Amino acid sequence: MDRPLPVARPLALAALAATLVVVGCARHDARDAASAPRPLRVVATTGMVADIARGIGGDLVRVRALMGPGVDPHLFKASEGDVLRLQEADLVLYNGLHLEARLAHVFARMGGRIRAVAVAEAVPAARRLFAPGRERAPDPHVWFDVALWRLAAGRALDALAAADSVHAGAYRANAERYLASLDSLDAYVREQAGRVPPARRVLVTAHDAFNYFGHAYGFEVRGLQGFNTAAEAGTADVQELASFIARRRLPAIFAESSVSPRAVQAVRAAVRARGLDVALGGQLFSDSLGPEASPAGSYAGMVRHNIDTIVAALLHEPLAAQGEP
Ligand SMILES: [Zn+2]
Repeated sequence: MDRPLPVARPLALAALAATLVVVGCARHDARDAASAPRPLRVVATTGMVADIARGIGGDLVRVRALMGPGVDPHLFKASEGDVLRLQEADLVLYNGLHLEARLAHVFARMGGRIRAVAVAEAVPAARRLFAPGRERAPDPHVWFDVALWRLAAGRALDALAAADSVHAGAYRANAERYLASLDSLDAYVREQAGRVPPARRVLVTAHDAFNYFGHAYGFEVRGLQGFNTAAEAGTADVQELASFIARRRLPAIFAESSVSPRAVQAVRAAVRARGLDVALGGQLFSDSLGPEASPAGSYAGMVRHNIDTIVAALLHEPLAAQGEP
């Protein structure tokens, strides 16, 4: 292909720009004809959604996750660069159920110009969880029930096959493998959860991210903040939770990677004042994956890290704080 030499004259630059535009269009057409394919550009919001896109898309997609490790999706705001990436994507996959609350207006502004699919909204109404009194706002943290997250993967498969129908067969073959890996992951979590005596199956965390987990694997769940981290926990909540922990003699409570540990530490101090030394059971990955290339950097790795951390901490005997009557 002829390449114009980069000459620093306005006319030459204009010509170069025109050439690039033409080349760009030609590439796009080539993709449609499948003669010189380029990967489908997929933008995912969270790492968990990106994991599905990579697992099912394989080499046929180039996936970019907007939210990296430690990023809180409830509070995430799109930068100008993110908006550009969304506009340029062939397909946008997001969680939905109002998880990415601050992206809603970005999607609305783009109107029908982007193809955006909310994968967690594949979970039927009857299987969604709600906080008491908030029946109109479903809990968005669906990925903690691995069997439910299967439905999200199924929705992503449909979206990929529709956006790139030439490769629908390959996406289906990849999805079969991906879904089988979710089945063994679900069995692993179930087996590990079964090691904790039923009376100790209580999970206290920074925010209410683990209701689907609790519902699926038999844990009672208490979060200091509600579903949405935008709401601050008050002093009354801290005292109430501390009483609950002391009453139930729980051995451990848990911090989360995408939520400030301050509130959990306050609860721990309040429990100690009641004569029980509740341990910090470790950090759970709730709304974002761990760092890339770390064990919790994939969806399966994150789920395994969480259940292993929970089981190890809850199997310990609770300790009395010094000076307990
Ligand atoms: Zn959350």
